[in-house]
Amino acid sequence: MVPPKRQPNAKESASPEPRSVDALRVDLDQLELGSQPLVAGLSQAWVAEILSETDAIADGDGAVSLELTVQADRTVLVRGSLQLSYTVPCARCLEPALVDVGVETGELCVTFIPADRLRSWAEFSGAPEDEDEIEPLDASELDEIGYEGSIVDLRAFLAEQILLAYPMRALCSRGEACLGLCMRCGTNLNLAETAPDSCPGCGLALSANASAADEAADSPWKQALAKVKADDLS
Ligand SMILES: [Zn+2]
Ligand SMILES: [Zn+2]
Repeated sequence: MVPPKRQPNAKESASPEPRSVDALRVDLDQLELGSQPLVAGLSQAWVAEILSETDAIADGDGAVSLELTVQADRTVLVRGSLQLSYTVPCARCLEPALVDVGVETGELCVTFIPADRLRSWAEFSGAPEDEDEIEPLDASELDEIGYEGSIVDLRAFLAEQILLAYPMRALCSRGEACLGLCMRCGTNLNLAETAPDSCPGCGLALSANASAADEAADSPWKQALAKVKADDLS
């Protein structure tokens, strides 16, 4: 038997010792100037909390490995990597589809800047009388995040990364070969012993299932009907 490549729940042997997710709330007054590693585990429960408003399922622990560089002006550079996956329903058959949130070493990169300094930059960058016309600075586009006091909270930043990875459309491990659900009875067509010509649940020909799916997408009167039904519900 071949062991799985990676066991998210297994103890990491790498040093430094991973710490709990609370270690990602960093008090700068407790840190030396310069660079230091910060390795933390992302517990399944914590990830589940972040995903609780979605239909994604946290099915294991993750980990984050960061290097924090604290500058004398209290700018904090954060670089590192993130290892995490979760599952969402397959767009066709609703079985779990894997979403790899993993970010390679160095690709995770963000700068934390004292919030009052960010605000004064924003004021200098635009004429005050045209304030309503100015596009607000998008902190995420600049990869710069303001922080108040001495606390840099990396948990919110990581939560955002985790939610941003949520895909528009995911397929299960079958990929494009996924047969999806029967249009008529909802039977999972992947579960037949051999690739079926017809639905094992109701006998609907699979070609009919495919053309029914096409028709549902293309037929103008079906689209109109769907809209009426949607209006009834609202
Ligand atoms: Zn599927
Ligand atoms: Zn069927």
